[in-house]
Amino acid sequence: MEKLLYTGKAKQMWQTDDPEVLRVVYMDQATALNGKEKDHFAGKGEAANAISTLVFQYLIDHGITTHFIKKLSENEELVKKCDMVPLEFVTRNVVAGHFASRYGLEEGSALKEPVEETFYKSDALDDPFINESASVALGFATHEELAQMWGICRKVNALLTDLCAKAGMRLVDFKLEFGRLSNGQIILADEFSPDNCRLWDLETNAHLDKDVYRRKLADLTTTYDEVFARLEKAIAEEQ
Ligand code: ADP
Ligand code: UDP
Repeated sequence: MEKLLYTGKAKQMWQTDDPEVLRVVYMDQATALNGKEKDHFAGKGEAANAISTLVFQYLIDHGITTHFIKKLSENEELVKKCDMVPLEFVTRNVVAGHFASRYGLEEGSALKEPVEETFYKSDALDDPFINESASVALGFATHEELAQMWGICRKVNALLTDLCAKAGMRLVDFKLEFGRLSNGQIILADEFSPDNCRLWDLETNAHLDKDVYRRKLADLTTTYDEVFARLEKAIAEEQ
């Protein structure tokens, strides 16, 4: 019997007949301010699922181990069930969002090298910043596991920065999550979509991500559909 395990801000996680496999349902919903603002967008779940499954398959094809098994329908995928590491791994290539406001910088300023930040996943605490020693001291991961996860983040950044450029977009920043399989292996989990990254048009700097909703700039689903079309074309042209 299928059982709903969790309803998050963007997805539902369903138990399947296989205890090692989850069915993920992408909802037609977007949130801002860690869930304090929430709106319905027809077609958003399909668009986010389309992008995330396309990107995860691309990462698998380029040697990254992930939880992705297969796309099941327009708004569903099957994934390997993980015990999630309660950390968000944010990589920033360009100054934007909270990094700009925290340090009083103009969005779009250059960085001498990518910034890597971890946040403790807790809606109640508004995902506070956490450093390596606190992450290890609180038992969230070992030093070795953190190094491994950041190694994967760097590979993902290199692959996707290049792919996005071919799709006419700058990968400004993104958030990844990791989980452990029952044998302890750490793998890339959750999703990669414009819900969790910033993408700017290479020529116009137009926002092509969730900032169109946060800042009320354009229609969310139309924007995500465009991101999917651009990425799909860029991947097809690589082959
Ligand atoms: P949030 O919890 O931040 O509101 P979502 O709506 O995207 O986010 O919910 C998906 C939840 O499922 C997240 O808490 C995420 O950490 C978790 N998750 C992602 N991939 C897996 C997986 N393979 N196994 C178990 N949990 C996962
Ligand atoms: N991000 C995310 N979930 C969060 C917080 C941030 O996916 O709970 C992503 C966000 O979409 C962006 C990057 O992480 O691509 C950096 O976000 P930032 O810290 O600038 O916060 P924001 O301004 O997006 O709230």
